[in-house]
Amino acid sequence: MAGRSGSIAIGIDLGTTYSCVGVWRNDRVEIIANDQGSRTTPSYVAFKETERFVGDAAKNEATRNPTNTVFASKRLIGRRFSDPCVQSDKKLWPFKVIEGNGDRPNIIVNYQGEEKQFSAEEISAMILTKMKEVAEAFLGCTVKDAVVTVPAYFNDAQRQATKDAGLIAGLNVMRIMDEPTAAAVAYGFDTNEVNSPVKKNVLIFDLGGGTFDVSLLSISNSVIEVKATAGDTHLGGEDFDNNMLNHFVEEFRKKERKDISSNPRALRRLKTACEQAKRILSTTTQTAVNIDCLYEGIDFYSTITRARFEELNADLFEKCMETVTRCHEDAGIDKDNIDVVVLVGGSTRIPKVQQLLKDYFNGKELCKNIHSDEAVAYGAAVHATKLSGRGCEEIRNLVLIDVTPLSLGINVSSGIMDVIIPRNTPVPTQKSLVYSTSIDFQSEIIIKVYEGERAQSEDNNLLGQFSLSGIHRAPRGEMKMEVTFKIDSDGILHVSAEEPVSGRKNEITLINREGKLSREEIDRMVCEAESYRMEDEQFKKKVLAKNSLEDYTYRLRKLVKDDQVVSKVPGGYVKYVDEAVNKTIEWLEHDVLKDASEYDTKKNELEEMSSTLSKMSL
Ligand code: ADP
Ligand code: MG
Repeated sequence: MAGRSGSIAIGIDLGTTYSCVGVWRNDRVEIIANDQGSRTTPSYVAFKETERFVGDAAKNEATRNPTNTVFASKRLIGRRFSDPCVQSDKKLWPFKVIEGNGDRPNIIVNYQGEEKQFSAEEISAMILTKMKEVAEAFLGCTVKDAVVTVPAYFNDAQRQATKDAGLIAGLNVMRIMDEPTAAAVAYGFDTNEVNSPVKKNVLIFDLGGGTFDVSLLSISNSVIEVKATAGDTHLGGEDFDNNMLNHFVEEFRKKERKDISSNPRALRRLKTACEQAKRILSTTTQTAVNIDCLYEGIDFYSTITRARFEELNADLFEKCMETVTRCHEDAGIDKDNIDVVVLVGGSTRIPKVQQLLKDYFNGKELCKNIHSDEAVAYGAAVHATKLSGRGCEEIRNLVLIDVTPLSLGINVSSGIMDVIIPRNTPVPTQKSLVYSTSIDFQSEIIIKVYEGERAQSEDNNLLGQFSLSGIHRAPRGEMKMEVTFKIDSDGILHVSAEEPVSGRKNEITLINREGKLSREEIDRMVCEAESYRMEDEQFKKKVLAKNSLEDYTYRLRKLVKDDQVVSKVPGGYVKYVDEAVNKTIEWLEHDVLKDASEYDTKKNELEEMSSTLSKMSL
C-alpha cells in the first residue's frame, strides 16, 4: 500500500515487551518520547472497571490487576490456539487465553464489569494506536501512514495478522518491514556506511523480550541487501525471566512446602522481581530478590548469582549461537568475512550473550554504537519516509533487498513438499513451475500451500489451500498445470494456478484461510477500536469535569471560611453555601464516575452561589 505522497509517515517498532516510534523531521530521525517522557512504551494493555490503559500506566497495573493486564500479544499474533508455544505460554500468563473460532487464541478480560474477548490483533492494535497518538502529540497533526516492523522470522500468518492489527488501529500500513533490516538501515545511516563504495558484511543480532532474529546483510552504495536470516519467534528476555521464575517457585516449594504456581498475583510479583534481578545481574554478579507477603503471608527472601542465572539459561544462550551459525552458513559467508556484529534488543545487554558472541567471532569487538532499543524504530522511520516520497537524497536513493525467511512450496502426490521458493530468496519475487496430474481423467486439483524446511508436507505449516476445478480431463501425467508463487514486498504470499487447455485459473492471497481474521471481523474490530477510543475520551472528559468541580468546591469552601467574607454576608447564606459545599464533597467521594454533564451542572450551581457571595461581600 503506498502512502499518500508528501504526508508524514512514521515507523513503529511493535515489540513483544516494548514498542518505539520514530519520524523523520528536520533532516533526521527523531525517536519520539511518550507522555511519560520515555522513548519506549511497554506493550501492555490493562482493562479496568471504568477505563482502559495502554503503555506505562498499564504496566503499572500488572501486579495489582494481573488477570486483566495483557502483554506479549506478539507471542500470540498469527498463531493457532493449538500451537504448542501458545499452550506453554498460556500456563505462565496471569490473563486467560481460550480457544476462539477457527483455532484462534482469544484473550479474556473483565472490562467495565463485563467479560470481554479480544484477539491478539486487537490488543496489538491498541498498542499501535497508542504509538500513533504519541507521534501525533509530538507532530501536532494526525498520522495515517506507517511502516510496522516484525521479526524477520515471522511467517506469512504472523505478518498478515500484524498488518490486520494496523488496519484495526486505523493505520495505513505502507509496509511490513523486517526488524533486522530496519536495524541495519539505522546502522548504515548512523555510521554513513550506506554511502561507502566498500561493501561491508553486517550481522545484526537482535535478542529482545520475546523474539530472536539474526540477519546477515551487505551494505554499500546505498544498497542494503539481506543475505540470509534465521531466528526464533519465541526466544527472548521473557524466557530468561520465566526460567528464573520457575527456579524460585521451586525454591519456595522446597523452603515453605507451598506451591504458588496457581496464584496469578504471587506469580506476577515474583516475575517482576525476576526481571529486575536479571537486569541487575547484567552489571553485578549477585543480587537479592525480596518480596514481602508473597504467598499466604509468607515473605520470600532469596539471592541469585550471575553464574546461576547463566546456568539456568545456558541452553537458550547456546541456541542463539547455533542460529548465528545457521545464518551465515546459509548466506555462504564465512564468519571471518563478517565485518561488523551489531547488537540490537534489550537482552543483548546480558554479559554472557555478549561474551559468547565475541568468542564465536574470535574476539571481534561488538558494535554497540547504535541505540539497541531504538534502532528498529529508527530504520522503520527511514523506510516510511522513503515510501512517502519525502526525506533527503540519501533516503530517496536507498535500496532495500529483503529475503524470504522460510521455504515455500506445495504438496505433491506422495505427501512430499515441493519447494517453489527456497528460503533466503530475495523478495519481492515470483516463480512458476509446471505440474502434471497424478490420476487419470482428473477434473479437479487441490493445491495445498506449505511453508517450512521439512521434507514431508505435513511436518510443515499449512498456509492454505484452493482448488482448480473443471479442468481439461486427460490421462495421468498429460494434463499440465502452471503454479505461480509471488511474494510481495511485505513478504506476503500470493499463489495462483492455471491449466492452459481449459483456461481455468484460480488464485489465493493467503489471507482468508482458517485461523485468520476475515474481512468482516476486521471491519467489526475497526469499529470497536474506534468505540473504545471514544470511551477513553469520554472517560477523560468525565475525569476532567470531576476534577474541575472538585477544585472549584474546595476554592469555595475556602471562601466561606474567609473572615472578610463571613463578616459581610448574612450568616444564613454562609451556612447555606457551606452545606452545599459539604454535600458536594460527599457526593464527589462516591466511587462511580458520573456523566460529565452532572459535574458541570453542580459546578454551575456553585458558581452562582459564589457570585452571590461576592456581590454580598462588596
Ligand atoms: P522487544 O523488542 O521484544 O519488545 P526489547 O528489545 O525492548 O524487546 O527488549 C526487552 C527485553 O530486554 C526485556 O525482556 C528486558 O527484560 C530485557 N532487558 C532490558 N534491559 C536489560 C538488561 N540490562 N539486562 C538484561 N536484560 C535486559
Ligand atoms: Mg525489538
